[in-house]
Amino acid sequence: MSECKKHIQSIADYIDGELGPELCSEIEEHLKGCKNCRLMVDTLRQTVILCKDGEREELPESISSKLNEAIKRRWEKKFGKA
Ligand SMILES: [Zn+2]
Repeated sequence: MSECKKHIQSIADYIDGELGPELCSEIEEHLKGCKNCRLMVDTLRQTVILCKDGEREELPESISSKLNEAIKRRWEKKFGKA
């Protein structure tokens, strides 16, 4: 775990593409053996991509209506059908 802490700053730089080649391969070596850090990189990468895109995507229709359904069902459970 302390290994991971040591790498966190480097991982952030790694994602930004600001890491030197030496540290870069060190990180990649660590990532190979560390699921936690791989997950972190994936998550951070996605966040970075989202940030770089600049615009927030609208909730897709399907998710939005599923959400509404779930809320409605909960409501009906609690208060009965209208
Ligand atoms: Zn790690």
